[in-house]
Amino acid sequence: MKKVLSLVLVLALAISLVACGGAEDDNVLTMATNAEFPPYEYMEDGKIVGIDAEIGAAIAEKLGKELVIENVDFDSLIPGVQTGKYDFVMAGMTVTEDRKEQVNFSQTYATGVQVIIVKEGSSITTADDLFAEGANNKIGVQLATTGDLYCTWDIEDEGLGTVERYNKGADAVMALNSGKVDCVVIDNEPAKVFVQNNPGLKILDTEYAVEDYAIAVSKDKPELRESIDKALGELIADGTVKKIIEKYIPAE
Ligand code: GLN
Repeated sequence: MKKVLSLVLVLALAISLVACGGAEDDNVLTMATNAEFPPYEYMEDGKIVGIDAEIGAAIAEKLGKELVIENVDFDSLIPGVQTGKYDFVMAGMTVTEDRKEQVNFSQTYATGVQVIIVKEGSSITTADDLFAEGANNKIGVQLATTGDLYCTWDIEDEGLGTVERYNKGADAVMALNSGKVDCVVIDNEPAKVFVQNNPGLKILDTEYAVEDYAIAVSKDKPELRESIDKALGELIADGTVKKIIEKYIPAE
């Protein structure tokens, strides 16, 4: 009887230890982003703020977890989630067929548009001008973004122009300012912010591509994708996501 009792005690102790250890690790949800993408994520007073930071925090709260946000290069986001370094990516990340082979995505929570930024008076006036035979423009993009991928496939690989890749969208815009590139292809919301901060630049009316933003999770963690997706769905349904987006992008 005593033996059985002590065995039960030992077992109970072992289980509680495991549960404790697990709970400690499980308490934190690590979100990776690239805080160079206003108003979705950017630095303010040494803190990562923006639409994705707030939606990420709301999701973590729903899941009863503490959110930690890591700021890394855009092209390290997917590898980091694949190796388990981060639990999920929220970075205004577009759902693409290629990325779907590398990670699992949540439902989408926002739309992005690839737009073209030029200098006032530029001879580039529509997207078609970039694809014209002999156009030979230098196009600035942020490395590994969809703007980079599309311009590489549609323009550089076709011999219609060249693509200059920068680590930050803001650096591509600086290159445009100083005449190193002829235009920048980038998502519309950061484009608006960059143009606002740089007099003499404008966004063309034509859309290069329309895309869906979603949260990326490792293919090894289907349950995590499930719970993040469910939390996000609830936050969309109850208007929280809309409220957060409108806080940063006031309706015109
Ligand atoms: N939406 C673009 C992409 O997913 C750019 C995102 C970003 O620069 N943060 O590639």
